[in-house]
Amino acid sequence: SILADQIAAGEVVERPASVVKELVENSIDANSTQIDINVEDAGLKSIEIIDDGIGIAHDDVELAFKRHATSKISNPRDLFRVHSLGFRGEALPSIASVSDVLLKTSTGDEGTEIHIRGGKTLEVKPAEARRGTSILVKDIFFNTPARLKYMKTIKTELSKISDIVDRLAIGHPDIAFSLVHNHREILRTSGRNNLQQVIGDIYSAKNLKRIIKIDNQDDDFKIDGYVSLPELTRASRNYVTITLNGRYVRSNAIFKSIIDGYGSKLMVGRYPIAVLNIKLDPTLTDVNVHPTKQTVRISKERQLCDLISNTIYNTIFKKNL
Ligand code: ADP
Ligand code: MG
Repeated sequence: SILADQIAAGEVVERPASVVKELVENSIDANSTQIDINVEDAGLKSIEIIDDGIGIAHDDVELAFKRHATSKISNPRDLFRVHSLGFRGEALPSIASVSDVLLKTSTGDEGTEIHIRGGKTLEVKPAEARRGTSILVKDIFFNTPARLKYMKTIKTELSKISDIVDRLAIGHPDIAFSLVHNHREILRTSGRNNLQQVIGDIYSAKNLKRIIKIDNQDDDFKIDGYVSLPELTRASRNYVTITLNGRYVRSNAIFKSIIDGYGSKLMVGRYPIAVLNIKLDPTLTDVNVHPTKQTVRISKERQLCDLISNTIYNTIFKKNL
């Protein structure tokens, strides 16, 4: 029902940035190589995402807006997808229940266009057959004024969108992203699978030399990635990205070990930019696959955390490894 969708929307669609996140993740899931994001007034006016992914088959388009009708987790292998995040099958119906959505999609042959407003399907018709999907979301929260009132300034909402797109771009250097706000380009990445370049695209090329490569291993773990020097910090935990055997995870212990690597050089309440990829024998892990949390338990965690802290510390302070 529309009401159930709106209730779900209360969890999934907190603000324009959450819409961006869910839609871009769908584009990533659809194997897109290019994802263009256009927002007006920090998404409060409109959010448009254009991808070149696999598209949605004509017969599946209406189904995609039905709650729980779709769930991409069909076999356990899928749980290892880097971006298997929460709210399975809830994003599109939730978003469409609190906004005006125009989606055009094609698998390469027949195209379909659907217009939904406040959860009501207004029109479904054929569309051009360019492979991929574009989705235009307008009038977000037009029918939930209480939520609309919670929105902060354009500046705040935009910085949340920007944070999320930065992170998705870092997690997917093989995808070309662009983010445009009120016709001004904020981010563009090449999609040439060069993580260091993506970090430079985000934090400006002049900062690139303030971002250093880390690379180390012991008998059980292999770690690599990039970390910023202490002075180049931004006050957000979101700039720390951790992957375990290629999958994005959250771990307070690993997060803390990264921070510890800076010793007392890092000011309290500020965080580095860090992308840390950890490789280990999967039998050393126990992953809790709760849909909303990518929490993980690692045996020999203390050893891993020491390796991370020491590697960051030694690299930053130019000691020999
Ligand atoms: P979920 O991503 O959890 O399956 P969503 O509500 O986010 O649920 O999306 C519903 C379905 O719509 C997806 O499973 C997918 O099949 C389809 N879909 C959504 N966005 C896209 C896209 N950009 N390209 C291709 N398919 C899409
Ligand atoms: Mg989704």
